[in-house]
This record gives sequence, structure tokens and C-alpha cells, in this order.
Amino acid sequence: MGQGELRGVVALDGPSGTGKSTVARGLATALGAAYLDTGAMYRAVTLAVLRAGVDQEDGAAVLRCAETADLRIGTDPGSADVRLGDEDVSAEIRGPEVTRAVSAVSAVPKVRELLVATQRRIISEAKGRLGGIVVEGRDIGTVVVPDAGLKVYLTASADARAARRTAQDGAAGRSSTVDATLADVQRRDLLDSTRAASPLRPAVDAVEVDTTDLDVDGVLERLLSMVGERGLRDVAATR
Ligand code: C5P
Repeated sequence: MGQGELRGVVALDGPSGTGKSTVARGLATALGAAYLDTGAMYRAVTLAVLRAGVDQEDGAAVLRCAETADLRIGTDPGSADVRLGDEDVSAEIRGPEVTRAVSAVSAVPKVRELLVATQRRIISEAKGRLGGIVVEGRDIGTVVVPDAGLKVYLTASADARAARRTAQDGAAGRSSTVDATLADVQRRDLLDSTRAASPLRPAVDAVEVDTTDLDVDGVLERLLSMVGERGLRDVAATR
């Protein structure tokens, strides 16, 4: 397979339930680009921490788990599976135990340093192979790729985000209620945006897109035109 149409990096940040994953995958697929879900990396490390029975507040022990976890993440937007060693943990990392603990684990500065270094390696490799990559997370535009060609910060009302997360849980066979999900979304937003290390916030040069009243196709259409306007799309690419 040759290079795709995207040249460089699209950084997609924002709180949970704004449609980041769906939009990031859709954009990468439309452009023949790679895709990286950095939230899945923090979730996989959190699963390793929980399995080791380590206290999430013990930063040194959490770091040791992160260093020894054999974390493998795919960059194909059609099947970006996440593994610990040979075990596919893509479904388990979305479960309630990991969701409850992930913000504490991702607040440990050394864990962030380790994962950011891995993310940069994956991004650099994918750019060499396919020309471009769509990366989603909380700190992509501010920390991981501060020179990304396009930075987008997705927002949506807390109610809309809770409703989307509940629907996703239902589709994946996990039972939850909108009220419980809303409480979880608000709890994680607070932890993620007030932590000392790389708090969730838009980069100064990010374009904010409110997805409350937009469907996925509407958001994708906007992002595709931004990619074109920035000169990041090579329509003559041979794929
Ligand atoms: O995107 P997702 O909801 O799967 O992310 C799970 C958690 O991982 C977030 O609530 C946040 O604590 C952490 N995260 C982060 N930095 C990123 C991506 C995710 O701290 N770049």
C-alpha cells in the first residue's frame, strides 16, 4: 500500500463523549491515514496496574507496571486493537473498573513521559509509512505533537456526552444509565482538566468544534475541509 492523502498530523483532543474516536477513525479512513488512540494506551496501562493489584496512588509502583507492560497498539483505523503481550484487551479496557481508575494512572507524570515517548515513535513511524496520522487524546495538540498541521478540540454539552457514552456502552453490551455515565463523565473531566501534568485544555492554536448538534458526518465534513484548507491533503496520492 502506498501513501495516503494526509500529509502530517491531525491532533484531535477533547473530553470524553465528544465523538473523538468515531471522528478520528472516520477521518483516518477517509484519508488513507494511520490512527492512534492514546486514551487506549492509558487504559491498557491502567488494566496492567489493576491486574498487578497495585495502589493507583503509588506513583512509583504504577510507573513500574507501565514500564513492564508489554503494550502493543494497532494504527489501522479499521482494526486498531490493543494488546498486553499476545492478549487482546480492546474490550476489557473499556469496562467500568478501568474507566474508574484511568484518570489517577494518567495523572502520574512519569507514566505520561513514558507513553508520550512511545506515542511520538508510533507517530513518526506511521508518517514515514503512510504520510499522515490522526491522533486522538487529551494533550496531543499541547504536548505530544505541538507542531501538528491541524489541531481540533472537540466539545459537546455534558448531557450530550453522557447520552453518547451510554449508547456506546449499550451497543458493546455493558449496562449503564445516563445518570451514572453523566456523573462519571463529569468526574473524569474534573480530574483530567485539573491535574498538574498536561491537563486537558485546548491548544492556543486549536480550532474548537462543538459537536452537540452535529452528527458524525457533519463533523467529518468540517474536518475534511479544514484538512484541505491547511494544504494537508495530497489528492494525487497513490493508494
Ligand atoms: O479517551 P479515553 O476516554 O479512552 O481516555 C481515557 C482516559 O485516559 C482519560 O480520561 C484521561 O485520563 C486519559 N488520557 C490522557 N491523555 C491522553 C488520552 C487519554 O490523560 N492523551
